[in-house]
Amino acid sequence: MSDIKTRYLLVGFSVAGWWCARAIRERDRNGKIVALTKENGVYSPPLITYYLGNKVSTIDYRSGWMENLDLELVPGGEAKKLERENNRLILASGESFVFEKALIATGGLPIVPPIPGREVTGVFTLTTPRDMQEIREFMKFQEGERVTILGGGFIGLKTAEAFMELGVKITLVELANRLLQNMVDERGSYYLEKALERAGLEVIKEDTVSEFQSREGKLSGALLQSGKYLPGNLAVVAIGVHPNIDWLQGSGIELGRGVIVDEFQESKRAGIFAAGDVAETKNLITGERNVVAVWPEAVKQGKIAGENMAGNRLSYPGSLPVNTVSVGEVTLVSAGLVNPPAGDFEFLTTVSDDSYRKLVLKDGYLVGVILVNRIEKAGVYINLIRQKVKVESFKDRLLKEDFGMINLPAEYRKHLVEGASIEV
Ligand SMILES: Cc1cc2nc3c(=O)[nH]c(=O)nc-3n(C[C@H](O)[C@H](O)[C@H](O)COP(=O)(O)OP(=O)(O)OC[C@H]3O[C@@H](n4cnc5c(N)ncnc54)[C@H](O)[C@@H]3O)c2cc1C
Repeated sequence: MSDIKTRYLLVGFSVAGWWCARAIRERDRNGKIVALTKENGVYSPPLITYYLGNKVSTIDYRSGWMENLDLELVPGGEAKKLERENNRLILASGESFVFEKALIATGGLPIVPPIPGREVTGVFTLTTPRDMQEIREFMKFQEGERVTILGGGFIGLKTAEAFMELGVKITLVELANRLLQNMVDERGSYYLEKALERAGLEVIKEDTVSEFQSREGKLSGALLQSGKYLPGNLAVVAIGVHPNIDWLQGSGIELGRGVIVDEFQESKRAGIFAAGDVAETKNLITGERNVVAVWPEAVKQGKIAGENMAGNRLSYPGSLPVNTVSVGEVTLVSAGLVNPPAGDFEFLTTVSDDSYRKLVLKDGYLVGVILVNRIEKAGVYINLIRQKVKVESFKDRLLKEDFGMINLPAEYRKHLVEGASIEV
């Protein structure tokens, strides 16, 4: 088979890949773009759980815009190997592509710990359209379902939300002492747990599944480390994702937890960029390298990579974890450093029966925020963090009822309005 030649090769075509293609096209109308995706089409991961819960009727992502991108999409095009010495990539099918510039945007893969029985029918993960279809098919033939969800992070909670819509009895098992452990503190989790319990969901913390038990190859229940037994024929393992980088071993690309990139989203191999859940970037606040697997950062990194692949030189300011979760009666926003290590941090909080707000400050700057239910100022706080505005002089007003952009000193208002916006 002879090589297919392209100017740009996008390996993975979901959020980061899509925005990269759009940025390329804004600067280069004619350069050939080939986009590979392991799936059949272009989809939005956050819609997967909504689709399962019958909240939306499609998981399609911007396919109506594809024509404007003028690219060649290769569905089912699974990358297997990137050659060390050449800009040549080989697919599982044996097809090969030679490129001038490439983007690695292969996202994350679900983490499945080696729990005995994890391979039996009825134990799933839920991060791809295929997982979702398999669960739907499986549920068609079950009566009186009861589901155990392992993991109380945001994919676990979104999975719980979907099963709540379907009227399934749910037990959520979380190893930590709180849900959403990277997004909230124990108090934030308390509101969430209460709302979930009111919605009929059982939450078990500081415990985990030690074995999936089966009868005739089918799940019959989950045995927990504490000895508790959760009967049921359906379980979803949702303890997180890790960057999908194994296929890059031996390619000469520098790998850490993810693909290590510089501020231009470029890897150590010139002309090969990475963006989204697969990329390891600098954290905006701590400066440490990490993978921030959230949608807005995948969009931003994809855009910057695309601009730079097409000849520009834009830099990425650093990743900021921002997330919103809405389950039962609780809506929660979290951004930045919300559980800082011991040190010189200042905390401002307000607490009521049904709301909680926590701001984390360091050296006069806002570095983290948790908002439970009272989320109306989320945009302002996130902008203050992102734009690194010194809040020391007006910190006493930050949690006042009437605080808003209008209360900020004029020079900051201008700065914030002109700051980079999020386009999702
Ligand atoms: C169920 C779920 C709910 C989520 N909800 C939220 C939310 O509410 N808010 C939020 O901020 N984030 C959410 N996220 C995370 C968010 O979706 C990701 O941060 C974002 O999709 C990352 O985009 P990406 O392009 O890097 O990777 P992905 O969107 O994961 O796309 C990876 C692409 O790579 C392709 N691919 C993988 N391997 C290969 C290969 N070997 N060869 C070729 N192609 C390959 C896949 O087919 C896919 O096209 C959610 C994720 C999931 C799974």
